[in-house]
Amino acid sequence: MTQSHGYAARSATAPLAPFKFTRRELHDHDVHVDIQFCGVCHSDIHFVRNEWGNAVYPVVPGHEIVGRVKAVGSAVRKFKPGDLVGVGVIVDSDRTCPSCRAREEQYCEGGVTLTYGARDKYGDLTQGGYSNNIVTDEHFVHSVSPKLNPAGVAPLLCAGITTYSPLRHWKVGPNRKVGIIGLGGLGHMALKFAHSFGAHVVQFTTSESKIADAKRLGADEVVISKDATAMKKQANSFDFIIDTVSAPHDIDPYLEALKRDSTYVQVGLPEKPPVIDPGNLLFKRRSWSGSIIGGMAETQEMLDYCAAKNITADVEVIPIQQINEAFERVVKADVKYRFTIDMSSLGA
Ligand code: NAP
Ligand code: ZN
Repeated sequence: MTQSHGYAARSATAPLAPFKFTRRELHDHDVHVDIQFCGVCHSDIHFVRNEWGNAVYPVVPGHEIVGRVKAVGSAVRKFKPGDLVGVGVIVDSDRTCPSCRAREEQYCEGGVTLTYGARDKYGDLTQGGYSNNIVTDEHFVHSVSPKLNPAGVAPLLCAGITTYSPLRHWKVGPNRKVGIIGLGGLGHMALKFAHSFGAHVVQFTTSESKIADAKRLGADEVVISKDATAMKKQANSFDFIIDTVSAPHDIDPYLEALKRDSTYVQVGLPEKPPVIDPGNLLFKRRSWSGSIIGGMAETQEMLDYCAAKNITADVEVIPIQQINEAFERVVKADVKYRFTIDMSSLGA
């Protein structure tokens, strides 16, 4: 067994607190990673507080993990001790279904194993990255370039790939007008990628205090979404809109902003489902779609793209002892633009 410690929630209302646990021994294809940084995703909060109704306790959250390989199983060829690596939202899939064979493991028909709060194939409860180490199959481990700041790389493992994948899938690039809703962890990565891919990018935000940052991060225009007149001016003009908002909100004003035959993709997953006016879809043959993280090959492609273009998340690095305050600030949309926990703060 591998001894681990981290911070866990014991119930939907309990604050995160120190927790000791064990992880499985290294199997042939497993990699033991000593964790350096872990990003704080809004999904961690939804899960821990049981807002999606699927929580299990105790849970050590965290699925934006960067660290160094400490040891590898006997069959591992991809990594060696000392390598800088990343682990994201999933740690297993059936590897045989059509989605897995298409390198879209995130849509595995047999069901994925989440990095925390799931049973792995050995029957153990998975625990995430708010901890000192993780043991997982090499297929779900990615190489990280030492050129980039590892604290800023950690959020790429979820916020990065979750926005990169749909922007690539729907071919966002030059001569396309793209809207990003919400300037949080996912939103600021969507903004960086859409700008980097050459699109004309409009950032929608509820926070006037974020206008200057949105422009610095690559927005060609910023629209305050509470301003109905400003929203109306955008009608029928977008090729693609990505919704990264974590809380229930009105979607119809954004659907009205899309051109004929264009797509609205949902990556935010609020606790309550939205209600939309189907008229906003059918009168202009618009599509309302969704997307979840990305495949393992695409995650590596995204990390390599970020290394080549010098893209990382804008992070506020915190010690683990500040995690409960950080959760409160994320809920208030008061983070610029991702918290990353420095795991050295855990101590031995
Ligand atoms: P986040 O950092 O909290 O960002 C969410 C942003 O949404 C906020 O910064 C805020 O931006 C906006 N917002 C918050 N409350 C709002 C409200 N009531 N009305 C309108 N806008 C509001 O969260 P995140 O980590 O980026 O995650 C966003 C969502 O994506 C979460 O639901 C998360 O679970 C989900 N997620 C999905 C996937 C996937 O694979 N599909 C992966 C990761 C996360 P402004 O201040 O700019 O308005
Ligand atoms: Zn996440």
